[in-house]
Order: sequence, then structure tokens, then C-alpha cells
Amino acid sequence: MMRIMRNVPLSRLTTIGLGGEAKRVFYPDSSLALIDAVRLCEEKDEKYFVLGAGSNVLPADAGYDGTLIVTTDCARLCAEGETIRADCGAMTSAIAAFCRARRLSGWEFFASIPASVGGMVTMNAGACGLFMSDIVLRVHAYMDNKCVWLDRKDCRFGAKESIFQTKGLVLAAEFSFFASSREESAAALARCGKMRSRQPKGRSMGCVFCNPPGISAGALIQRCGLCGVRVGGAVISEEHGNFILNAGGATERDVRTLIELARERVLRECGVALQEEIIYLR
Ligand SMILES: Cc1cc2nc3c(=O)[nH]c(=O)nc-3n(C[C@H](O)[C@H](O)[C@H](O)COP(=O)(O)OP(=O)(O)OC[C@H]3O[C@@H](n4cnc5c(N)ncnc54)[C@H](O)[C@@H]3O)c2cc1C
Repeated sequence: MMRIMRNVPLSRLTTIGLGGEAKRVFYPDSSLALIDAVRLCEEKDEKYFVLGAGSNVLPADAGYDGTLIVTTDCARLCAEGETIRADCGAMTSAIAAFCRARRLSGWEFFASIPASVGGMVTMNAGACGLFMSDIVLRVHAYMDNKCVWLDRKDCRFGAKESIFQTKGLVLAAEFSFFASSREESAAALARCGKMRSRQPKGRSMGCVFCNPPGISAGALIQRCGLCGVRVGGAVISEEHGNFILNAGGATERDVRTLIELARERVLRECGVALQEEIIYLR
């Protein structure tokens, strides 16, 4: 099954909350429907983009003139002992609740990232020193026109990267957790919550730039005196130099201007070339 919508504002599909409209949006509700959606676009040679929770993408002011395939309806979860299998559109918060109900630990650090499993695996997302590559057992993927199970070692995980950024589609992933008491789980959640409470509030894409080896991109941007700098409706967070916030009415152009400003100043003043972590949706 697949819901289809037309002319959907990208501001509704992304956490930064800006951009024009997507011409057509498919919402497949299973792995099979997701594969059908991709095949449909490929057979017609139509442009498409697979979107999870839209928490790491910068949409374009001009909108998206192809088909967006949004995975959030494809969100089944199942457990076999301490192994959990999550469809690509399952949200981190849903997995946290699922684990809590089964007294399983291991997901607490990811619980408050506003993301889907497919996006997390693709970006090798991490928090508090733990990354997807540490807890994924294997990934069910659609690759070269067939469904395959890839072991963790075959996913080519690296710093904020995986094979899925250049090849294939994440259909589901299996994670290995461990039994724990409610108290242990609550303590891990509290530790992570403390770290998150230091993250800026408001609409953003999370960190804009990858951290260069051994340095924090946010600290470099702060060192250049850019925290609080505003262009139109977009502002570099006062609290965290690597977050750009939509303070109200921001456009893609405003955000891009700040990205270029940060890149240029950090290169000139610190001699470090920053690379974006975010993905441009175009
Ligand atoms: C407030 C906030 C806090 C954040 N904190 C963190 C953090 O602590 N750690 C961290 O690592 N990140 C963090 N992020 C960034 C972001 O949440 C992660 O990068 C996350 O992995 C993106 O998941 P998503 O479902 O939103 O993916 P999307 O933004 O929808 O997509 C990201 C990329 O993944 C691809 N993709 C999505 N689903 C699939 C699929 N099924 N198959 C193949 N490709 C797919 C998309 O095409 C795109 O290229 C934060 C973001 C915000 C807004």
C-alpha cells in the first residue's frame, strides 16, 4: 500500500522547516511497497529521493521537482529475544518505547535524535560516543535490483558515512540489545538527556558540518566569532556553532549564506576545511 500526495510543502517533511513544495510524495507502508515505489520511478526514469524523518537535509527554496519517497509509514518493529528488527521508517522514539516495554537496553542514547532507522544507518548516526555501526547486526537492503542482508562489516561504516549514501536502499535493520532493569535504562536515558539539554532548541538539521579529526567544527565556528550571526530568518546558534536554526521564515538561501560564511572564515582563520554533514535535497 502506498499513500500518494501532491504539492507537499517541504517545510512539513523536514526538521529545519523550510523550502518549496515537493511535486509528488509517495508514502509506502512496507518494504515491498518501498521497492515498488523505487522501481516505478526508475522504470519511468523519474528523479526521486528517499527521505526518512528529514532531520539531516536542507530542502531547496525551489522545491523538489521529482518524487519524494518518504519512509515513515514503513515502520514495523519486531523482537526475537534480545534482537530487534526495525523497518527503515521506524522512528528512534518508537524503538525506545518498544525496548522499554521489553526491558531491553542499548538504544537509550539514540532515543531523542529526531530520526528514522534508514536515515540513522545511512548516516551512521551517533550520540554519546556510540554509533549505528556499534549496534547494527545486519541490514536488509535493496541493492542492484535485489534484496540482500548485509552484515555490519559489509556496510562500509565510517565517520557519518555508509555504503547506502552511494548505493542501495535500507529496508530494515537488526540490532542486538541486552536485558536490563528499569533503573539501569532510566540512568542511561538521563545521562543522554543531560547531554541533549545542551543542544540548541528550535528547528535545525542538527550539526551542519562533520567534525574534522580531533576537533569540534562547532568550536572552530565559535572561535571565529560567528555564534549569533543572522542572515534573514536563519541564525548560527549562540549555544552551538555547528547548529543553524530557522528562527522564523528562513529560506534555503539564508542557510546557505551562513554555511558559506562559516566555511570561508574557518578556512581563513583556523586553516581547516569544513565538509558538510547535511545532505542537500535537490
Ligand atoms: C535536533 C537534532 C539533533 C540531532 N542530533 C544528532 C545526533 O546526536 N547524532 C547524529 O548523528 N545526528 C544527529 N542529528 C542529525 C540527524 O538526525 C541524523 O543524521 C539522522 O541519521 C538522519 O535521519 P533521518 O531519518 O532524518 O534521515 P533524512 O534526513 O531523512 O535523510 C538523511 C539521508 O539518509 C538517506 N536515507 C534516509 N532513509 C533512507 C533509507 N531507508 N535508505 C537509504 N537512504 C536513506 C536520505 O536519502 C538522505 O541522504 C540531529 C538532527 C536534529 C534536527
